[in-house]
Amino acid sequence: MSLTSNLWEEVLGELRTQVDEENFNTWLKPTQFRGLENDTLHLDVPSDFNRSWLDRNFKEQIALTAQRLTRREIGVDFHVAAPSLPEEQAGPVRAQSPTNPEMLAEIGHSVLSPQLTFDTFVVGDCNRFAHAACRAVADPDTETWNPLLIWGGVGLGKTHLLQAIGTEFLRRAPHSRVRYVISEQFMNGFIQAIQQDKMAQFRATYREVDLLLLDDVQFLFGKEGTQNEFFHTFNELHGHRKKIILSSDRPPSEMANIEERLRSRFEWGLIVDVQAPDLETRVAILHQKAEMSGFALPNDVAIYIAERIKTNIRKLEGVLTSLRHHWRLTGQPISRESVQQILGHFVAGDEPQRIAAEQIQAAICDYFNISMAELTGRERHKRVTLPRHISMYLCRLLTDLSYPEIALHFKGRNHTSVLHAYRKIEKELLRDVNLQNIVSYLVKRLQETGK
Ligand code: ADP
Ligand code: MG
Repeated sequence: MSLTSNLWEEVLGELRTQVDEENFNTWLKPTQFRGLENDTLHLDVPSDFNRSWLDRNFKEQIALTAQRLTRREIGVDFHVAAPSLPEEQAGPVRAQSPTNPEMLAEIGHSVLSPQLTFDTFVVGDCNRFAHAACRAVADPDTETWNPLLIWGGVGLGKTHLLQAIGTEFLRRAPHSRVRYVISEQFMNGFIQAIQQDKMAQFRATYREVDLLLLDDVQFLFGKEGTQNEFFHTFNELHGHRKKIILSSDRPPSEMANIEERLRSRFEWGLIVDVQAPDLETRVAILHQKAEMSGFALPNDVAIYIAERIKTNIRKLEGVLTSLRHHWRLTGQPISRESVQQILGHFVAGDEPQRIAAEQIQAAICDYFNISMAELTGRERHKRVTLPRHISMYLCRLLTDLSYPEIALHFKGRNHTSVLHAYRKIEKELLRDVNLQNIVSYLVKRLQETGK
């Protein structure tokens, strides 16, 4: 199996949890990875019928999942497989060989994104020190602080830095073993290993590495078993002078619900923070991201946006994505007026007023005249799915909750459903005036009255 085909495996793994079993077995399971080329995932399906069905019903979900895993825009194309043809005639697309530089480095359960590197990281006063520390630890040949812990608020670049370290380390030492993992995945893997009696394998995965990057360690707080496992992983790696990099939403001194012996280990090395960027850095980030996605952002527009969205870089990116969609759909140049028009509610969404997920849900139930049970339940009728999607969208827009955190407010769903809903509404907002009005009204109402 080539490394890139793991992307399809990963996507399938995600979809398995979202799609009911019958649909999964009928449509997704028989679908085979063919290749990944120019950011398009090519998939082989057994028949024309499968192709058109998948096209209509699953294409978007597959693309979004792949996008989330790779942090790239991934297109999806289905091909009716012609297994009897000899290799050369099977079509222009081939699975890429593992040495292709475009290859996604398959690491642990996650993927190192080619976009989250030091090259694409904008340095300002807010992150200068953290950036320098990360640069230093990314050198495989020097011993540095161990562990390195980066902490800071949501959307300020912690994951970006961790990923950049992984990529740089691998670039310099291509044969080294680098593992990037989000704490939640570490825990899920641990639980699975217990259930399937595969502890030895699980331990090897995290202990036999040269560099371990553990993202969002706060997720382990209060999870005793997983903490204990990580404690031993940490000791093993540290004892062998293997590098450990952690990210967290708070410094060790403020960590609660964590074993003291683990907390104190976090203080053995270096602790650095990332702060909210200043205006100039925000403008630089906007220009850089716009350039990366191939469109020109007038400077006054960049400043206009940066003046309004102050804390969260992810929200800056969200605005850019909406602008890009708008630009692609309408072909209109991006001006300050068009930004004001399209993004009024979005921009307003960063005002300091704190709104809780529960308030959003209550407002939605009230507006659409449905019950909380219906909103958070499983029913898939449009009467409840639209309100559900809008409330997920608003949670992302108006709170600092991450996708997994939002998912917790919608019983039993996982973060991919939330991401899906968010993208869906974001896209529909660009062409549906009625929806724009509803969303603007709800945002205004929530911001003004909190309910
Ligand atoms: P965190 O993990 O701290 O919540 P992320 O690393 O996911 O935040 O950053 C959110 C988004 O903002 C990412 O898409 C990331 O690429 C971008 N970003 C954050 N900081 C910077 C920076 N200094 N330069 C460029 N992009 C950044
Ligand atoms: Mg992160």
